[in-house]
Amino acid sequence: MKVPFLKTAAGYIDGRWLPARSGQTVPVHNPATGEVIATIPRMGSAETVEAVASASRALERPSSMEQRQGWLTAIAQRMLDCKDDLATIITLEQGKPLAESRVEVEYAAGFFRFFAAELAALAPRQIPGPIRDARWTVHSRPAGVVGLITPWNFPLAMLAKKLAPAIAAGCSVVIKPAAYTPLSALAQCQILESVGVPGGLINLVSGDAAPIGRVLCEHPSVRIISFTGSTGTGKVLLAQSAAFIKRLSLELGGNAPFIVFNDANLEPAADALLANKFRCAGQTCVCANRIYVQRDVAARFTELVTARVRQLNVGNGMEPGIEIGPLINRDAWDKVASHVTDALEKGARRVAGAEPRRPEHDWGSFYPPTVLTGLTEPMRAFQEETFGPVIAISEFESEPEVIGRANGTPSGLAAYVFTADAARAQRCAAAMQFGHVAINTGTGPTPEAPFGGMKQSGFGREGGREGLHEFCEVQTVATK
Ligand code: NAP
Repeated sequence: MKVPFLKTAAGYIDGRWLPARSGQTVPVHNPATGEVIATIPRMGSAETVEAVASASRALERPSSMEQRQGWLTAIAQRMLDCKDDLATIITLEQGKPLAESRVEVEYAAGFFRFFAAELAALAPRQIPGPIRDARWTVHSRPAGVVGLITPWNFPLAMLAKKLAPAIAAGCSVVIKPAAYTPLSALAQCQILESVGVPGGLINLVSGDAAPIGRVLCEHPSVRIISFTGSTGTGKVLLAQSAAFIKRLSLELGGNAPFIVFNDANLEPAADALLANKFRCAGQTCVCANRIYVQRDVAARFTELVTARVRQLNVGNGMEPGIEIGPLINRDAWDKVASHVTDALEKGARRVAGAEPRRPEHDWGSFYPPTVLTGLTEPMRAFQEETFGPVIAISEFESEPEVIGRANGTPSGLAAYVFTADAARAQRCAAAMQFGHVAINTGTGPTPEAPFGGMKQSGFGREGGREGLHEFCEVQTVATK
């Protein structure tokens, strides 16, 4: 194994680090170089059933709130103590620049710190009464065994958003990390083990997504599936679990509008766009996908953006000074390239970014940061998330026009509005069908605030008090 920190690359079931029953493994590649950095067990339904049984048994020994608070605090601290090792693992398996990986570790640790402090929200609530001659109390009970399925773009943070509130609520979990990036999740389990979280409370199965997902959807002991990933996989999980009445929390894809009105302060808006768009090489669910700029300022804003994009350094995220790493694989590269080609064929203009050469392998899929102008709604780059380093700009005339265009998508995750007019900003936020609206900032979510989608971007919230209640069952007790 060519990664720091990890003692073993194995599944984690009932406090034991295990191979697949079949003995089969799958390689994990560095997407920048193609090097095999580890092999992980190729587990399937049998190991998932075992993991669910282990998680069910763990619930027979419930932990106190104080115990859970202690674990969460210790996990956050240990993650920060190991920040460089964890960041290296993220960069080696995911490709993003090391500096971004360090920020991801801090962000992930923030969820454990936040939910440690938020545990008081689980205290029983008395309803003023008596009512019907009884005293009424509302309890937040642990939901039970939960399945956590995570994507490859933020392999540590997307898990932390689910794992921290699940532990806080008193649940036990079965984790299924993304095949491209399982090592960060293994490192997270190692940290949990090191701070004394009991074996069995946390389980991890790596391997074949479909059979693992099917067990989580169908097993009677699994009460909740918390999933982050593509809208397509979200629909599969919904359909598979419908007959079993599972609670789902779905954090799915986005197609974020980024609106710049002509009264906006253009320099900070351009800075915000670059920071937002190029994080993780543009492979984030919240990154700006459709840039709408009011006609009077479109030329100037494009100039500001283009000048900045031409300065960006693309390469291996382990090397100093690199700002954009590789895309996760060649399919991702092909998708980005097809969006650019489609836009150019339909009349858009490329004002920054060279014509790239298709990578020869699944790795080394570096795509040059690109700026396109003249986008229109029928183009693929506006119809679906590009998930790559492409800034696609379109001009607009009026507020009602741009709000209509921004909302004209099945997605509803994140949106950004830049304007100096506070009343207009609030009017736009209220009219926009997106779970996260940022005004004069390109910021994404934070542990303290709820985050999630509207429409086909999913349902349920992560972060904030709402994120804790996702893992609780509400029980009302009337006592005479
Ligand atoms: P994906 O292909 O849907 O995979 C996500 C996870 O689901 C992976 O662990 C994957 O396993 C697993 N999976 C795939 N098929 C499954 C099945 N039939 N049953 C159970 N699990 C299954 O998504 P992705 O390409 O990794 O992630 C990118 C997408 O995630 C983008 O659309 C992005 O917008 C979205 N995303 C959303 C948020 C949010 O908060 N809303 C955050 C980050 C990303 P394998 O890796 O083994 O296939």
